[in-house]
Amino acid sequence: MEKATRQHTKEHNRALVLRTIVTNNSISRAEIARITRLTRTTVSDIVSDLMAEGLVNEVGLGTSLGGKNPILLSLVEDARFLIGLDLAQREFLGAVFNLRGKIRFMTRQPVNNRSGKEALDAIYEILDCLVKTSYQPIMGIGIGTPGLVNTSEGVVVTAVNLDWQNLPLANLLEERYHLPVYVLNDSQAAAMGEYNYGEGHQSEDNMIVINARQGIGAGLIIGHQLFQGDGGFSGEIGHIVVVPQGGQRCRCGKFGCLETVASTRALLQQATELAVHNKGVFPEGEEIDFAAILRVFEQGEPRVQKMVLDTARHMGFAISSLIGTLNIHKIVLTGDITRFGKPWLDVVQDTVSQNTLSMLAGNTRVEFGQMGENSVILGASAMLADNSPLFFDAR
Ligand SMILES: [Zn+2]
Repeated sequence: MEKATRQHTKEHNRALVLRTIVTNNSISRAEIARITRLTRTTVSDIVSDLMAEGLVNEVGLGTSLGGKNPILLSLVEDARFLIGLDLAQREFLGAVFNLRGKIRFMTRQPVNNRSGKEALDAIYEILDCLVKTSYQPIMGIGIGTPGLVNTSEGVVVTAVNLDWQNLPLANLLEERYHLPVYVLNDSQAAAMGEYNYGEGHQSEDNMIVINARQGIGAGLIIGHQLFQGDGGFSGEIGHIVVVPQGGQRCRCGKFGCLETVASTRALLQQATELAVHNKGVFPEGEEIDFAAILRVFEQGEPRVQKMVLDTARHMGFAISSLIGTLNIHKIVLTGDITRFGKPWLDVVQDTVSQNTLSMLAGNTRVEFGQMGENSVILGASAMLADNSPLFFDAR
């Protein structure tokens, strides 16, 4: 066997054993050998290496199936750390996670409409802080950013809000911090966060996560993997035209995109117009922001209720198209728009059932995400871990 191949087999087996320990809370060497089909000697050698590196430890004795009680092994979840960054919020959100996705440190950096080079400086400020915490060693940095991203090159092709074009973000950060950097679209990251850490999601082969905040995007999980499409830009559902005639101009330049009728940005614009023509809908003299819309909605103001629930109808139609195309059963909704709660979700669900072929709609479940604002940072760091040599070779 050539040296290179031997080395590759060794790395593959090592990643396979580690992954098996990660997916089981505690497991014996014999059980690992059974699952991975490696010999007991190979497993024992790899486990010794992993223990020497502090990644795995012995946590007690399991029940015996005859003979001695087996020693159980477990992942040392704080043996390595990952940084996750979410650039799609009004303020940049960053966190340090352990190997089980538990947040150990979190911080925010106000963006205050900074864009271009200034927005990049805001990233440096937040990362300068995150790489210096006591949670060491750090394996790398995973970033969820708005806009179109070339993930394999780590380049933000275009992000309108941040005024970035062809920004080699991964290269810039790798040079500055000497850590591996993984960059992906924020909605794709949110999907990975929900899928990896949401309860009951991992048993699904396929799942769609729709992330609706200032913009709208989707992440498609197909066959347990993130599906990025031929160009890497899958899930840009926010720019599917849903009002073909007389629609509002979208920030992408087209008219009547889903974002112009179902995003929080659209809602804010509609609320401002509503307030101009209807005095008293919103309290006089107060700023109309998302929180104000939510408050008036919950008070049951009929015009605001209609305005908000119309976004749910548009979302429902968009979901019907996705279900009709992909026949995926689980649809998860995340982002600020989900803060309108059950009344909003009910309208989405009704619209979906009324507009989808009943054979397809019957098995479909539309539900809210579980990770809240952390879905993007969790997903970005999960993708980084998945692509790190520690785990990658097991695939
Ligand atoms: Zn658009």
